[in-house]
Amino acid sequence: MGWVKFLGTAGARFVVARQLRFSAGTWLELSGTQILLDPGPGTLLRCRKVRPPLEPLELSGIVLSHKHLDHSTDVNIMIEAMADGGLKRRGVLLAPHDALEGDDPVVLRYVRPFLERIETLVEGRVYELGKVRITPVRHPHGQVETYGLVFESEEGRLGFVVDTKFFPELPEKYKGCQLLVLNTVLREWNPDIDHLSLPEALEIVKAVRPKLAVLTHFGMTMLRSKPWELAAEASEKLGLKVIAADDGTTVEAKDWT
Ligand SMILES: [Zn+2]
Repeated sequence: MGWVKFLGTAGARFVVARQLRFSAGTWLELSGTQILLDPGPGTLLRCRKVRPPLEPLELSGIVLSHKHLDHSTDVNIMIEAMADGGLKRRGVLLAPHDALEGDDPVVLRYVRPFLERIETLVEGRVYELGKVRITPVRHPHGQVETYGLVFESEEGRLGFVVDTKFFPELPEKYKGCQLLVLNTVLREWNPDIDHLSLPEALEIVKAVRPKLAVLTHFGMTMLRSKPWELAAEASEKLGLKVIAADDGTTVEAKDWT
């Protein structure tokens, strides 16, 4: 049975800088394939400290949605750990072009040979990791190339609406997702910040109607408003299950199928 574990739930710079929530990534096991999404600061530490500990050597791949620090700081150490300290050539990295090339790539060149392969994310292509199909969805998010992700496996269709400014076609792109995870940084809409606010996240949930919606990646305004209470209110209003992830929250296939 598949599962998704939120090693960290911090979003935005202040929550990350003060570590009010952990900023580690999200670990998925789908159809027996283990995948790590967005290894932010502290990911390796959190992998080893959670109970039971997660084993980087069992990862099939790492997916980077974009190169912002809170999503990518631990990508290099996680590549090395996935490749048994660089002794083995193993694992796959999926990442946007600007995380790999250009003036300011975040993936160090010296760890790249540890990987079995590197694939550059492009919208319109479908990627395979074990029995999992991964479809990137281009998101507008500041100056960096950013992709939301849809994972399809025998456990169904899972959508990760990572950092993004809201755009009208967004709900359509995640249509049919049974589990929908939304990076909900802001309590209220702010036109100057390219992140989803709670009302926008709930608008997406309302349109997609997943079996389970998980809010995560919280900024200060969300944390101060007690996300678990906001999620409970949203569940009531929308008539479907909405939860706010806590550091270490695990959801299982039975929760969304
Ligand atoms: Zn970002």
